[in-house]
Amino acid sequence: MSDLTRRSAAELAGLLAAGDVSAVEVTQAHLDRMAAVDGAVHAFLHVNTDEALAAAADVDARRGAGEELPELAGVPIAVKDIVVTRGQVTTAASKILENWVPPYDATLVSRLRAAGMPILGKTNLDEFAMGSSTEHSAYGNTRNPWDLERIPGGSGGGSAAAVAAYEAPLAIGTDTGGSIRQPAAVTGTIGVKPTYGSVSRYGLIAMASSLDQAGPVTRTVLDAAMLHEVIGGHDPLDSTSLTDPATGYVAAARAADLKGLRVGIVTELGGEGYQEGVRRSFLESVELLKQAGAEVVEVSCPSFDYALAAYYLIMPAEASSNLAKFDGMRFGLRVEPAEGPVTAERVMAATRGAGFGDEVKRRIILGTHVLSAGYYDAYYGSAQKVRTLIQRDFAQAFAKADVLVSPTAPTTAFRFGEKLDDPMAMYLNDVATIPANLAGIPGISLPSGLSDDGLPVGFQVLAPAREDARLYRVGGVLERLLTEKWGGPLLAQAPELEVASR
Ligand code: GLN
Repeated sequence: MSDLTRRSAAELAGLLAAGDVSAVEVTQAHLDRMAAVDGAVHAFLHVNTDEALAAAADVDARRGAGEELPELAGVPIAVKDIVVTRGQVTTAASKILENWVPPYDATLVSRLRAAGMPILGKTNLDEFAMGSSTEHSAYGNTRNPWDLERIPGGSGGGSAAAVAAYEAPLAIGTDTGGSIRQPAAVTGTIGVKPTYGSVSRYGLIAMASSLDQAGPVTRTVLDAAMLHEVIGGHDPLDSTSLTDPATGYVAAARAADLKGLRVGIVTELGGEGYQEGVRRSFLESVELLKQAGAEVVEVSCPSFDYALAAYYLIMPAEASSNLAKFDGMRFGLRVEPAEGPVTAERVMAATRGAGFGDEVKRRIILGTHVLSAGYYDAYYGSAQKVRTLIQRDFAQAFAKADVLVSPTAPTTAFRFGEKLDDPMAMYLNDVATIPANLAGIPGISLPSGLSDDGLPVGFQVLAPAREDARLYRVGGVLERLLTEKWGGPLLAQAPELEVASR
């Protein structure tokens, strides 16, 4: 079967269960595709050929012996390189962790392994997940499969590009301020940031612990729901893990319509600063939601105007603390001072100076500054108050609507270098995604069409905490209507990548 890489995870699961293909064939097809296109796309930092094939062979042997297997057994997956994998190099795209081999698996990785899902490799990201373009990776840019001169979003550009380029049917991302949803938006894929605490953070290299959440990156809404059910659930190893997270995602993704559902358009997440084609595509999808039976209202969340500012105080504050452990003593890189005494402090300074990139240093400086005794109340304290106001805005909005909608990102994929020297312009990409992280609520981005420049636009749906199933209901219905309108998935309109000869 030549087109295995074009299949959704649900379709692959069906073929595997029926015995039409083996897990080794499916995994090999994706490894071949990676060999053919990843030279151009550079979605992967590490490829686990032998391990992935061994995991696939194990699934085939167990299926052959008549064992009852989890639904996604034999369906391969790519994992963002900020999630630790036992025995496999994990770098967070930083020089400071170059060649670091974790001694344990993240909980979500253990769950993927238990589900029989071969791990194809680790995907590229902005260093320590700080960025919106993957240009801050210490290991080179990932390219957007829609246009190789453009960014794939960030920080999880590698996971989104891998799925968009058919190198993997599924991927794992992490979202602290939008790093699953914005890359999904600009690559025409689907990304879900689950409710905070519903997917374990154990084994994620922490960026900002009160905001980080891992989730699915896929090409269909159903696939995202299936993957979410595999990785979600309580974990005693994560003290912020919900004890009774909701489920029912797969059933919700198959909903027939949106009758009785109230959809709120957030006034503050649109308008000025949003590309014209992005707005047009967004409004077209809103019309489809109405056709499916939804009632559409407008809601205002005035505090969202301060969300970006609050995020860029809270996130660096937490990151500066989390990154203190990279000191040249415990993990990865160790650099001794070029001259003078080799004291612990001087080794730390030399290691951190050499090991961290500019964006990480910028945020550590910002974070330590806002946490310093003289400025704590003025900056960090104020930002936490804004966070509370944002949570209140959401509570009021969700009293009027069951879900909220907006464009995922204000623009389509920009060109490399366009925003690299202007941190503020880069940060503005997250304006629509950040409020969800500050409030701990779930969000999905799915493709709503092409903008005037021919590039994909993301449609964001937000739901109250623990109501992730609503995202799958709205996403599943909208995806079906859009696919009918386009006569196939949006990704089918992406230009074919040139395949390298081997
Ligand atoms: N782009 C945002 C930032 O730079 C979000 C990052 C993320 O979600 N990991 O902080």
